[in-house]
Amino acid sequence: MRLMPELAVESISKSFSGTTVLTDVEFTVADGEFFTLLGPSGCGKSTTLACVAGLEDPDSGTIRVGDDVFFDGRRDTTVPPEGRNLGLVFQSYALWPHMTVADNLAFPLKLRKLPADERDRRIDAALDKVGLLELRDRYPHQLSGGQQQRVALARGIVYSPGVLLLDEPLSNLDAKMRDQARAWLKDLQREMGITTVYVTHDQVEAMSLSDRIAVFLGGRLEQVGTPAEVYETPATPEVAAFIGRCN
Ligand code: ADP
Ligand code: MG
Repeated sequence: MRLMPELAVESISKSFSGTTVLTDVEFTVADGEFFTLLGPSGCGKSTTLACVAGLEDPDSGTIRVGDDVFFDGRRDTTVPPEGRNLGLVFQSYALWPHMTVADNLAFPLKLRKLPADERDRRIDAALDKVGLLELRDRYPHQLSGGQQQRVALARGIVYSPGVLLLDEPLSNLDAKMRDQARAWLKDLQREMGITTVYVTHDQVEAMSLSDRIAVFLGGRLEQVGTPAEVYETPATPEVAAFIGRCN
């Protein structure tokens, strides 16, 4: 069995021009786990993900996958994003409109200098996983929003990342498509067994998808637990209010 080391985020803090947006954020994500950062808009979820991805550096703390240190504030260590082997999928699909589906997927593989035959093999495998192999030569504008989002996911997994980072990937879809995409995403994650950090402001989405949820409020983690733990025993009145329970 493949065993990936855990992702550990240890006590990261971050300010933007004197305003603190993250305070001592700390969590670990186990191999194959579906872990969700849940909280209202502006609470620091995307900034946390950007720090894990290396798109932003925290001011302090450490981020590592197993023994692989991505960021260490004390030692001035920071690994650039392309050295972190992470799959990123963000809210806007950001497919390149002038490239076919296959070429959109080829792009990250070319960056990694994979030979053409290996690229083709991986592109077909990833498109097959998301059920869109027959659309490989279409352009993004010829696809529905849901299909475009699947292509974006295929591009996130095409180079077999160790950890998949998903930032509100379903929020541009309409409600019906979002329900379908949610079920499909959960199946895919389970089938691949890929360690996933998922960001959402949607409590229902978090509850239905996650192995564990970290509730984020005002740049701090208020509670980390299974959906049942967070729902049934919210750690603070603020968590209870956000989850929609008043007890
Ligand atoms: P979330 O994803 O939970 O909605 P963000 O992580 O995007 O929250 O933002 C957290 C806070 O940090 C917000 O107040 C936001 O305005 C601020 N912020 C995020 N990125 C930047 C930036 N690059 N420069 C200045 N402020 C930022
Ligand atoms: Mg965000």
